[in-house]
Amino acid sequence: MESAVAILYFLCVGIMKVTFPHLGSMYIFCKAIAEEAGIPYVLPPPTTDKTREIGEFHTNESVCLPLKIILGNFIEALDAGADTIVMVGSGPPCRLGLYDRTIKIILTDLGYEFRWLTIPGIFTWQAFLQNHDETKELRRELTIANFLKFPRAIMIGWRKMRWCEHLEGLAAKKRAVAAYPLEVERWLQEALAALDKARSLLAISRVGKKSVDALNEIKEHGRKPLKVMMVGEVYTVMEPSINMNIEQRLGHQGVEVERSSYFSSHIRRGSRLDKGLLKERAELMELAVPYLKYDVGAECNFSVAETVLAKKRDYDGVVHVYPFSCMPETTAASVLSTVATELGIPVLSLPLDRKDMGLRIDTQIEAFVDIMHMKRSGHLL
Ligand code: SF4
Repeated sequence: MESAVAILYFLCVGIMKVTFPHLGSMYIFCKAIAEEAGIPYVLPPPTTDKTREIGEFHTNESVCLPLKIILGNFIEALDAGADTIVMVGSGPPCRLGLYDRTIKIILTDLGYEFRWLTIPGIFTWQAFLQNHDETKELRRELTIANFLKFPRAIMIGWRKMRWCEHLEGLAAKKRAVAAYPLEVERWLQEALAALDKARSLLAISRVGKKSVDALNEIKEHGRKPLKVMMVGEVYTVMEPSINMNIEQRLGHQGVEVERSSYFSSHIRRGSRLDKGLLKERAELMELAVPYLKYDVGAECNFSVAETVLAKKRDYDGVVHVYPFSCMPETTAASVLSTVATELGIPVLSLPLDRKDMGLRIDTQIEAFVDIMHMKRSGHLL
């Protein structure tokens, strides 16, 4: 909960027009907090080709894809009237640790006037103190009423996020077995929209339960689905507009996808309060040790470890997604080819960049699905 307090603190430190980048259904969480605490906000338009092109235009080609898209989100939000940007920070060795500074410089060079709040990737008291100056002026814009509304706003935002993630997880299972998978997509859109609109804890839980009941009504085809783990760079795993809706594409081919990253688990990890989760991560890290003797950074070791875990759990395969030019995940990709051979688990590595990869991805997915079927039926060792 303290982690959520931290996010709220940085999200709501002023009567301003706050904006934030898109990351899957995270916008429902951010919106809920801003709305419940009475903080005006501007939701960036959904990420599209145009968003990516804006980001590409103002950066050079070697820059990480997530930075380009996030920059595009911010430019679109500033053009729509936002004046305060909330961005998650990080630290070395990954380039994400420099995103906030890089984006700030680019936006300033472009002539935008804005205020900036960095949410530390790891919540420590030092991080709070470091941000104190950044937020001093903005805090004066808050009223007592805003402060009093914070605790409820946090609870509402957190509960919505947990339900969103739960429903997305159920959708990933159901679309693999649904007689008409498009019904699952329609159901998910409606369920997320209803959660977005719910204004109380009771309403959220009612919407969530009703949505689960509605999902259970969707007819199934009765065949056993394949099961894969999706691992890789966090942003690529969580943002469907970047990963070309790979969960859906696989689901429509009868493959159940388990995602390695959810926004709530990153918050819980960053807060360092959930000791169980930290222990789990440390144990997971150990699984990568036979292949990686040191921590490469970002999710690299976890991509390897989760692949080992997928084999242990008897999954049919692993999909590894990452932005083209991502340093840690390019390392993971080369290690994963060894892991896949040694453990005998199919791994599909997908470096993602431009949108025109759509058709290539479909072909790769089809071949991957065929391989998993052949392995399952014993026609391939
Ligand atoms: S993990 Fe990859 S994409 Fe993300 S900041 Fe690091 S290098 Fe860039």
